[in-house]
Amino acid sequence: MLSTWIVVRVDGCHFHRFCEDNGFQKPNDEQALKLMNSCAVSLLEMFKDIIFAYGMSDEYSEIVSAVVSLFSSMYVMKWKEFFPEKEFKEPPYFDGQSVCYPSSEILRDYLAWRQVDCHINNQYNTCFWLLVKSGKSRTEAQSSLKGTQTQAKNELLAKFGIDYNALPIIFRMGSSVFRDRDEPTGNDRVVVEHCNIIETSFWKEHPRILD
Ligand code: ATP
Ligand code: MG
Ligand code: MG
Ligand code: MG
Repeated sequence: MLSTWIVVRVDGCHFHRFCEDNGFQKPNDEQALKLMNSCAVSLLEMFKDIIFAYGMSDEYSEIVSAVVSLFSSMYVMKWKEFFPEKEFKEPPYFDGQSVCYPSSEILRDYLAWRQVDCHINNQYNTCFWLLVKSGKSRTEAQSSLKGTQTQAKNELLAKFGIDYNALPIIFRMGSSVFRDRDEPTGNDRVVVEHCNIIETSFWKEHPRILD
């Protein structure tokens, strides 16, 4: 439909199990995130209609279809590059849902929602895995975090000597993939950045993305 953005959200199927089977580090396996980012870069390189992608955990939000299939096959092709010592126990696959957002503002609200979710999940998972690694069972960890607000979680992190804002930015912000001008050559290239896409400043600094 005219002036409507199509967002395709790709999400790993049963990745809870897939991560365990393949021994991903908890709460965040940086190699696995970089494999996801590398797949998204390939998609932007191959499908010129995709103008922006945002990813966190096992999901990626992208624009235009045929995306899920290419994402899955890139994931398999690139696996060895990121995990040279690991073999799959089961084939990784992704589901995709596409939603239309009828203005740039609403599209930005959607992306902001995903980035807030990235932060909320990361904060929870960081606390959860600290408790589990310190000897609590998963059930105990879950029930002691149930209903806690940000402040209580920050206090828990402080007790373990962790400054949330010092954690790797890829875990806190997720990853944004887009085309940017390479100044020396004047060519477009696909870049991966871990930036705040909730604030308007990012969109003002990159006016070409949603033009
Ligand atoms: P579904 O098939 O319904 O999507 P799922 O098991 O994939 O089920 P999600 O809600 O998509 O469930 O959650 C993804 C799971 O994969 C979470 O448990 C998340 O912690 C884990 N995961 C994804 N990427 C990573 C990563 N890079 N490092 C560690 N864990 C990860
Ligand atoms: Mg899913
Ligand atoms: Mg999933
Ligand atoms: Mg997911």
